[in-house]
Amino acid sequence: MILRDVEVGGVGGRDVRIDGGRVAAVGAGLAAGAPDQDVLDGGGGALLPGLHDHHLHLRALAATRRSVPCGAPAVQRPADLDRVLREAAARAGTGRWIRGVGHDDALGGPLDRRRLDELAPHRPARIQHRSGHLWILNSLALDRAGPVVTALAADGLLYDRDDLLHGLDPARPEEEWADVAAVSAALAACGVTGLTDATAGNDAAAARDLARWRAEGALLQHPHLLGGEGVAGARKIVLAEHDLPGLDALVAAVSDAHDEGRPVAVHAASRATVVLALAGLEAAGARPGDRLEHAAVAPPELVAWAARLGVTVVTNPGFVVAHGDRYRRDVDVEDRPWLYRGRAFVDAGVPLAAGSDAPFGPLDPWRSMRAAVDRRTERGAEMGPDERLSPEAALALYTGPATDPGGPARRVAPGAPADLCLLAVPWVEARTALTADYVAATFVAGALVHDGGTTGSDQEHP
Ligand SMILES: [Zn+2]
Repeated sequence: MILRDVEVGGVGGRDVRIDGGRVAAVGAGLAAGAPDQDVLDGGGGALLPGLHDHHLHLRALAATRRSVPCGAPAVQRPADLDRVLREAAARAGTGRWIRGVGHDDALGGPLDRRRLDELAPHRPARIQHRSGHLWILNSLALDRAGPVVTALAADGLLYDRDDLLHGLDPARPEEEWADVAAVSAALAACGVTGLTDATAGNDAAAARDLARWRAEGALLQHPHLLGGEGVAGARKIVLAEHDLPGLDALVAAVSDAHDEGRPVAVHAASRATVVLALAGLEAAGARPGDRLEHAAVAPPELVAWAARLGVTVVTNPGFVVAHGDRYRRDVDVEDRPWLYRGRAFVDAGVPLAAGSDAPFGPLDPWRSMRAAVDRRTERGAEMGPDERLSPEAALALYTGPATDPGGPARRVAPGAPADLCLLAVPWVEARTALTADYVAATFVAGALVHDGGTTGSDQEHP
């Protein structure tokens, strides 16, 4: 296949030949004489390396499609949560669970086992907090989950132990397949050609599932997995706010992974956890490829520390727009200037990349890029204006390699994998809007996985 008249690396009027899943040639006049059916006219649009989402949770994302939405916009006040859960309880078939997501105390009010028992007395129910770090279970769900969970969560609140809930209410395989296909198509419509699944519990079985979905065509993107044993990527270490490990235990975990030849990806959001993560990496000896996930609160001394250790930061600019208004209300005043920083990391020389953290953040990388550039919340409030990135720097958050997020951007050049995002307009125009509406076509390993037409404006995006 030949893409005719595209812009590559800022140079317009190029043709690009794709062969065997790779970019075979970039030049002028390559389309001359080629059969029509093999030529796709780029109309002068920018041809970018396909975007890579460096941190999301594919299974949880797919599961949102068969879950009751318990957060905004459906739920604005406690009475709304009562209503959606009562309706879900009335709908749920015998033996089936009620699975809710996105619960937000500030909107739906406090939720525990007792309230959930009142709303859904006859079906096991589990409702996830919007942070992803907490499940709230009713009594029937606790019964099914058994004594270990019941001992940990007598009031129904189970923090950071998704492993204990595995297999309790499994999706039907064909249902999960269809849900994965739907979210993968939504990602493809945004020009995403690769994703990193950052789920801590990922293991060899999870790697097999993603590989199978990829082979069967449900998953259009190249998967890269972080997690535990049996996955190729970095070892994920979660520093859970309510149950922090001691420094010694963290150093041991980092050293274990390093001894296996694997980098670590340390989930650290608050100021205290970022400090602990950096202390642990320093004591164990940070290696290239070690990453901090989120690093949500990073005052200047911690930015400098990360730079000194050479640690990569995988941030989430989408949270600025999606959660910024809440941060402006709830986050400690002294932490607010240091939230989800961009410019500061780049200026300090910290390799910086981005992920959606979907389903806990917005899926669309263009919306995140826009937030990285304009630093505006949903309601339009400014958040950390000094952290603004240029559109090019925002794009670069998504064009580093899967195994080296924040490393040198992948390029559209002969020999490179044909993982490509074709825009309907040249970059000079795209950079002013940063919208997925401009994604005209997406290729993974040379295969067309999304065809948005040349205008793309009739496409819907997540
Ligand atoms: Zn995450």
